[in-house]
Amino acid sequence: IVEAVSKKRGERVFLVGGIVRDLILGINNKDIDIVVEGDGIKFALELKDMLGAKKVKTHEKFKTAVVVVQDDLKLDIASSRLEYYEYPTSLPVVEYGNIRDDMYRRDFSINAMALEIDSYNFGKLIDFYGGYEDLAAKKIRVLHNLSFVEDPTRIIRAFRFAARYGFELEKDTEIFLKNAITDGFLKKISWPRVKQELEILFSDKNLTRGMEYLNEYKVFVEINPNIKYDLEMKKNIERLETLEDLLSFVKIKKWLLVFLIILENLKKKELDLVFNKFNFSNKFIEKYDYGILMREKILDQLESADKNSDIYKALNNISMEIIILIHIQNRKKEIKLKIENYIYNLSKIKPLIRGEDLLKNGELPGIEFKEKLRVYFMKQLDIENPTKEKILKM
Ligand code: ATP
Repeated sequence: IVEAVSKKRGERVFLVGGIVRDLILGINNKDIDIVVEGDGIKFALELKDMLGAKKVKTHEKFKTAVVVVQDDLKLDIASSRLEYYEYPTSLPVVEYGNIRDDMYRRDFSINAMALEIDSYNFGKLIDFYGGYEDLAAKKIRVLHNLSFVEDPTRIIRAFRFAARYGFELEKDTEIFLKNAITDGFLKKISWPRVKQELEILFSDKNLTRGMEYLNEYKVFVEINPNIKYDLEMKKNIERLETLEDLLSFVKIKKWLLVFLIILENLKKKELDLVFNKFNFSNKFIEKYDYGILMREKILDQLESADKNSDIYKALNNISMEIIILIHIQNRKKEIKLKIENYIYNLSKIKPLIRGEDLLKNGELPGIEFKEKLRVYFMKQLDIENPTKEKILKM
């Protein structure tokens, strides 16, 4: 259908960026980015009608559109464009351009390939900058020597792709990157953009290498000079990597835990500054502070806990991020198991005895009511196959 719309409109159409790279590498990638050599928005509107897609969202300003075919299938469509920077790190000036211009504005050769998907040259790989060769040689290469200066977020992106695929920085690219860092260009990225790029890097599998790059090239120091990526942090990151199931069970993002691990040794004042720079909410910071304040006590309680209710009492008021942090930092198998018991079981249990059960039992509402319900709930946690009758009888 893309082919048909292209034919009707007389415009060339390409898959671009990450999906082309990953197709060649044989890796799954669900982000379908399409570039039209022409009017991306009009193309998207016609495509929506022909596909009978659910909806299309357009951004006139950027000449882009998203065609939502189904909830789990979205096509990002853009017009091919030419971008140039009036001065380093400025926002780029954007004009219509051809596919070659569109590839030239990209970060690395491996991300600057396009696969034509129209009837003019269906299946043709457009590769002006040697991306295919660099994929084979496992190299991250910029397209020109000012790339990192124009957009220093590419420094973090270089580490992301090198770490993810186990690639090396190509020799000149590494020199340009180091120079950009020495000349202070990392400082010129806005903090939200740094956070955005770090979030993606921190979400990747096989993080260890990415963390080493960030440490070696002084990105951590840029966030705060007192971040020391030491052996303990490295081990904590490795332990975090083994907790994928647990993280997805509690729906907590891996990148958030990585931030907490690397910020661990900062003093309160410095930590608050970093949290603010990265826009962490006050609510989150409060929960974090409380959890850290309670950490020693929680550990003592967990150590001596021998009933489910003891574990529950120790962890019930603590945010899940801190609970997982404690799990990561603690070596004792026994503590880890107790925490896992809380996460997978205890935190999911609903009280069987409710207010109405006490009323039915002839008890009058009052201050003690809540306390009684809590005591019943603790009993429920400690008995096997609990039923209302069993709990009330205890
Ligand atoms: P991932 O698989 O992690 O999503 P991706 O290559 O799709 O990788 P995105 O950040 O989604 O990465 O970017 C999509 C494409 O847009 C890239 O492949 C690249 O061509 C281009 N791109 C993104 N950010 C930049 C940038 N800062 N400078 C130049 N090109 C960029």
